[in-house]
Amino acid sequence: MNTLQKTALVFLVALNLSGVASSRGGTDPAPAETKRDPASASTRIEYEGTLLLEGHFRRPGDLHRIHSRQVFCTDGRDRARLDWTTRDDDDSAPVTETFLVVGDRVFHRDAAEQPWSAYTGVRARLGRLQVWAGLPAMLERAGRSEQDPNVSLRSAGGRLTNFTRLKAHPRLGDVRDSVEYSYLAAGPAPDSMTMTLYLRDSNWRLEQRTKSFTSEPVADALLTPPAVLEPAPYSEEDETLVAMPPLKAIAAGLWSAELTDIDSRTLIVEFADHLAVIEVAVGSANGERIVAAVRRKWPGKPIRYVLFSHYHPSYTGGLRALVAEGATVVTTPGNEEFVRHVAVLPFRIQPDRLARQPRPVKVVTFADRYELADSTNRLVAINYGERSQHTDEFVLFWFPQQKVLFETEHGWVRSNGTLRAGRRAKGLLGWLDEQGLDVERIVQSFPMRDNEAVLTREQLKSLVAGRAP
Ligand SMILES: [Zn+2]
Repeated sequence: MNTLQKTALVFLVALNLSGVASSRGGTDPAPAETKRDPASASTRIEYEGTLLLEGHFRRPGDLHRIHSRQVFCTDGRDRARLDWTTRDDDDSAPVTETFLVVGDRVFHRDAAEQPWSAYTGVRARLGRLQVWAGLPAMLERAGRSEQDPNVSLRSAGGRLTNFTRLKAHPRLGDVRDSVEYSYLAAGPAPDSMTMTLYLRDSNWRLEQRTKSFTSEPVADALLTPPAVLEPAPYSEEDETLVAMPPLKAIAAGLWSAELTDIDSRTLIVEFADHLAVIEVAVGSANGERIVAAVRRKWPGKPIRYVLFSHYHPSYTGGLRALVAEGATVVTTPGNEEFVRHVAVLPFRIQPDRLARQPRPVKVVTFADRYELADSTNRLVAINYGERSQHTDEFVLFWFPQQKVLFETEHGWVRSNGTLRAGRRAKGLLGWLDEQGLDVERIVQSFPMRDNEAVLTREQLKSLVAGRAP
């Protein structure tokens, strides 16, 4: 039995000592109980179901189904806890992360043996919602006390049936985080709960049935704030591009916009009378900052084209800013519908430039290879496809004049100060040989922070050779 299972067992024993869980629908509160405000009652409730995750997968719209089990408990006052066990499939090991809300503080740990950290900002807000989501009476009380005009609550028969928070998402525009409940039996416990949550780079829908419910007191130790805290680990939710990105010359006619804040590099390709931009990270506002930096350097040259390696948010999140600029999106066929969808997303709460000045999106697709060239520069976009081992369609950018290849997620990483080849680098080098591409230097978009922007092909070869098989 591993530590995780041991901890889980101790946890279950503790819960059983604090009150035997009754089966679903089996709670039959005494008449005095029904009059009590359910939001002030101790509660333990367990749900089980499926998490439908939309994130960094093979193609736009791909969903991953993950088994989910959630145990919520609260003292009915201002402390509550969520132990969330997820498992990819029957063969994979379950992982239990824990959220703990104590007053206005939110704590989190990735697994039972991991250290606790305190959440702040966006993460604290999302974490609090996740903890209250399993406890409808508590969520209703929290929702009403917030008095947020973007929050709406619906009830039926004195019980919460729907919580919705409208919010401005940096990439998706107007989205609704929501929790819905259905009830069969009398009493405060729902029969099912469905939650939809939008994170910066992914979103998910959780569909669960109630497995057990009890209103016995919850063991105090479960709701006690952790004594030792580690700093909160890296989170995408904390990242925003705050400064105008510096533009650095990479080679003749090739410039890099260094988006250190969001760990992403955009490449700007200069032609005689126009520009092309490659990779636009994470959100519409970030795309607009890239556009602003480019306009400042080349006030007379329009951005005529925008390209990206693959559909993940770090490469397409800022696309709308380029559409607003009038740039034609050049991509592979599997992304066309996705691009058209991005261009018409509603951005009413925080209108981005495209929402303020709508214009139709122009899309050009290519299956294998696409060239942009004039007398000064030449860009060859090549679909690397499934060989990327990442997405079905994946584009690499070759600049024959400069003998440069621009790639992302296929080169090198720096970990603990040491530069080493990423796991996909060997395949990339083999492909370069096979294609006979004249490439001397490789420029990388991600990972970029504290990492080399450019390596020679020979340097990457020796990194690959030095890597344990
Ligand atoms: Zn990716």
